Amino acid sequence: MALLQISEPGQSTAPHHHNLACGIDLGTTNSLVASIMSGETKLIADNNNQVMLPSIVHFGQDRKMTVGSEASHYAQTDPTNTIFSIKRFMGLGYKEVIELKNCPYQLLEKGNNVLFKTAIGDLSAVEISASILSTLKSRAEEALGGDLVGAVITVPAYFNDAQRQSTKDAAKFAGIKVLRLLNEPTAAAIAYGLESGEEGIHAVYDLGGGTFDISLLSFNKGVFQVLSTGGDSNLGGDDFDALIVDDCKKVLDLGKLTPAKIQTIKLLARTAKETLASENSAEFLVDGKVYQITKSHFELLTEPLLKRTLLLTKRAVRDAGIEMSEIKDVIMVGGSTRMTAVRDKVGDLFNKPVLCSINPDEVVVKGAAIQANILAGNKSRDDVLLLDVLPLSLGLETMGGLVEKVIHRNTTIPITKAQEFTTFKDGQTGMSIHVYQGERELIKDCRSLGKFELKGIPPMVAGSARILVEFQVDADGLLSVSATEQTSGVKSEIIIKPSYGLTDTEVEKMLKDSVIFAQEDILLRQIQEQKVNANRTILAINSALDVDKELLNELMLKDIIGARDELESLAESDDAKAIKKAIETLEETSAKFVEMRMNKSVMRVMQGHNVDEFSEKIEE
Ligand code: ADP
Ligand code: MG
Repeated sequence: MALLQISEPGQSTAPHHHNLACGIDLGTTNSLVASIMSGETKLIADNNNQVMLPSIVHFGQDRKMTVGSEASHYAQTDPTNTIFSIKRFMGLGYKEVIELKNCPYQLLEKGNNVLFKTAIGDLSAVEISASILSTLKSRAEEALGGDLVGAVITVPAYFNDAQRQSTKDAAKFAGIKVLRLLNEPTAAAIAYGLESGEEGIHAVYDLGGGTFDISLLSFNKGVFQVLSTGGDSNLGGDDFDALIVDDCKKVLDLGKLTPAKIQTIKLLARTAKETLASENSAEFLVDGKVYQITKSHFELLTEPLLKRTLLLTKRAVRDAGIEMSEIKDVIMVGGSTRMTAVRDKVGDLFNKPVLCSINPDEVVVKGAAIQANILAGNKSRDDVLLLDVLPLSLGLETMGGLVEKVIHRNTTIPITKAQEFTTFKDGQTGMSIHVYQGERELIKDCRSLGKFELKGIPPMVAGSARILVEFQVDADGLLSVSATEQTSGVKSEIIIKPSYGLTDTEVEKMLKDSVIFAQEDILLRQIQEQKVNANRTILAINSALDVDKELLNELMLKDIIGARDELESLAESDDAKAIKKAIETLEETSAKFVEMRMNKSVMRVMQGHNVDEFSEKIEE
């Protein structure tokens, strides 16, 4: 689902009242929590003063659950009960999970869902993620001194509906109210305050522990939109560590190693890598032997990894349909962008210095905290809120079984749009407003959302009532439709939840169909429109005849009736051209009659009808 962000008036709260809210970066490798305290974005640390919570959970035989760095110790001693990188499993079905490389866990298939076999029982990815979230929740509540009203949780921009929904479910399990899910690159852009700057395109380069994500965001009229995403879900800091491990094995000639030993060397390699961000060389001991690596050798070893990220970056820029030079800023996100070579090479690629003044592993959670603070109602009305877009167009039924789209798909919400409609018949006092969702032209191919009646329209000539139909979609996707007759003020309305009950695949199908049937639909629309025109013309001529038949001589009357009957019989057919022609013929045949009626009405200074009084809708 495409996600857009827009500014909207925020909710104001009573003065001096601060709602406790936090931002959560639920990462593959590390998770963090932050909040706004006394106007400042603060990371919330644990009792050991650590802000980063490794996303690792251990389930012990004693039913004891450990989360974070303590759990990482069990990776060597009790690997099957030590779950890491759980984010990779969120929202995936069994078939997709078993395709994941190097999955060391015992998985169970339950329906199309996956369960992890652990010492405390079979658990889902949602439940395991929930344990990380609840650790962060308690940490935050302890630090903030009260219950949270909610949290903004970040997700990768490419996360689909199932992955997003799983994240929400995990939060629910952890007892956290999700104020909103926020795309990670957008969170980073917010942390840098880019929404208060000029409009333009920003790149977000995120190299974490196990994944690489590149996103291009456009910022336009207060809205962040994801233009494209790219990356590699199997390329991250861990791969840099692995190259050090390989080098170490070769240099020290270590031969065959036990899995536990490899795990130990991995941890040493990771520390060495992190040291190289600020030192020129690093070393560690394996079995009493010293392994030493210089920064330049490390950079040489890992150059192919870095090159791959640059290639994927170029591809994402191409996918967004933009030029490198159009990109204003490049934000560095993820612990691995602490490596100087990464910053330099990315800067070279974009030909500008990268944004890295905020710690790259903290930038996402900071943006989330800023957003949470606004959504919790602690800020003034002008602050940026992040919003969705409508997945499908919304419209209403017009004559001939056609759908008139009022709000088009991909429009950012909240949105209010109004359009004027009018009556079809003389003296029409009621109107049925039938709301549809979809991209197709005919109501039968769209999805009915609801229907209501507008009654009490003062009787008027067809086409002269002015009925303002207003569609309003709020930030949560709730639609309300109202219809008001402008001259009398009579009003009627309904409230609908438009996306309810539609799965992602259904939305996708509706979109696909609209493309497949586009030609056919246009044709059908033309036919339907001609039919409506025909009926309208017939109605108008009939009512004119009712009043003023005596103005005509017998021949003229016969011609008009003949042309009308011809049109009436054709109006049932599906020949748009023939109908159109018959309408024109009837109009030509009755032109003189119209003129006579006009003269009569001028003479009588009274308002009459003529065939031009169509019940055409008047665009706003
Ligand atoms: P994720 O978003 O995947 O949860 P992070 O953004 O926290 O992960 O990044 C974790 C990765 O960053 C790890 O591979 C870690 O080794 C790496 N990292 C952290 N600090 C440094 C550093 N100083 N130099 C190089 N890599 C680092
Ligand atoms: Mg991350």
